[in-house]
Amino acid sequence: MVARDLIALCASDEQRTRVRICGNPDCGTPFVDTSRAGARRWCSMKTCGALAKKRAYRAKAK
Ligand SMILES: [Zn+2]
Repeated sequence: MVARDLIALCASDEQRTRVRICGNPDCGTPFVDTSRAGARRWCSMKTCGALAKKRAYRAKAK
């Protein structure tokens, strides 16, 4: 919550409406969704996004 408040303080009005919490339950990092569609789910595609892709791939492989 503190990190989220920090973003709220620093961000512009438009950014504030785009604050999301990372979809990875092990992470939970708040981030500002800067994608046009506003459909970003992860704090970073390189870390949590890649992890989620790996997990989805594994789930499919089963
Ligand atoms: Zn994350």
